[in-house]
Amino acid sequence: MTWEERWHPLREEWVIIAAHRQTRPWSGETIVRPSTDLPAYDPDCYLCPGNLRVGGARNEAYQGTFVFTNDHPCVGPDSPDPAPTGADVYRNRAARGVARVVCYSPRHNLSLAELPAGEIEQLLRVWREQYRELGSRPEIKHVLVFENRGEAVGVSNPHPHCQIYATNFVFKTIETEARVTQRYLAETGQVLFQDILKAERARGERVIFENDTAISFVPYFARYAYEVYVAPKATHPSLAELSERELGDLATVLKETLIRFDNLWQMPFPYVMVLHQAPTDGGGHSGFHFHIEFHPPLRQPNLLKYLAGPEIGGGNFLSDTSPEEKAAELRAAGNVHYRQIDSTGQ
Ligand SMILES: [Zn+2]
Ligand SMILES: [Zn+2]
Repeated sequence: MTWEERWHPLREEWVIIAAHRQTRPWSGETIVRPSTDLPAYDPDCYLCPGNLRVGGARNEAYQGTFVFTNDHPCVGPDSPDPAPTGADVYRNRAARGVARVVCYSPRHNLSLAELPAGEIEQLLRVWREQYRELGSRPEIKHVLVFENRGEAVGVSNPHPHCQIYATNFVFKTIETEARVTQRYLAETGQVLFQDILKAERARGERVIFENDTAISFVPYFARYAYEVYVAPKATHPSLAELSERELGDLATVLKETLIRFDNLWQMPFPYVMVLHQAPTDGGGHSGFHFHIEFHPPLRQPNLLKYLAGPEIGGGNFLSDTSPEEKAAELRAAGNVHYRQIDSTGQ
């Protein structure tokens, strides 16, 4: 079965072929009950403490966060050396790297939005540690931390968790951001993201929440209806450079933002969350400003933003919504999680 990286000569980017993962468990057809009905512990969940995973390993009886190596990795240290491509125009190489899973909490039915701010801060420390450890390995060029949340993005297990892909190449979007921010710094002497923050704070109409050192906003150029950036206000290439105070403020802004997502339609809000941190390829990346991006696929409670002709075929997004209106909706969604209100009967 094919497991390798193939170079896309037209897009100038790597494609990971991980056909061996076809054997991974498929549970996409399971109907997930509303999260209010979910138990705190599910004996059938492969992420809950003490449970057996498909690969045969047993989870620790963990109390806080729990990190383990993905049982069905798309990149791994033992991935095979690929066979010759058979054509000069094609290139390939081994899909080397590390794929891990991070459980946010032993609680099966608790979302990131519902974690206490202190536990979100602790999770930020775990992400920082993973970035440092994996990024320091010479073969690792980038550490991608991301969470796919909800069936709309293909995840049927509600247990709060994210994934880490530490790869031997830099993901395309990060590579573009690193190149663009470096050029902007060379040409203007300014950090591009600082100028974006300045513009967003000057108008304020797309800002969702901010405190002393962190902010969240729907960017002016949002491609998805409820696209949101969460960032420290000071420029740091990655989580590794944040002070303790900045970590705490960032955790607060994350929580404020996530609660508004869930409150918007009183349902677990599906999204792809991704940490954009500087590549660990030995480059300078001084103009790179660490931030977290949310790409929610829904435009309305049961209306997906379909990627079609312009997006898939042409590569540019066509958005049917106004970033200013969507930011106003999120600001107004309230900062007490709807499940908390339900349970206290307010
Ligand atoms: Zn679970
Ligand atoms: Zn970014």
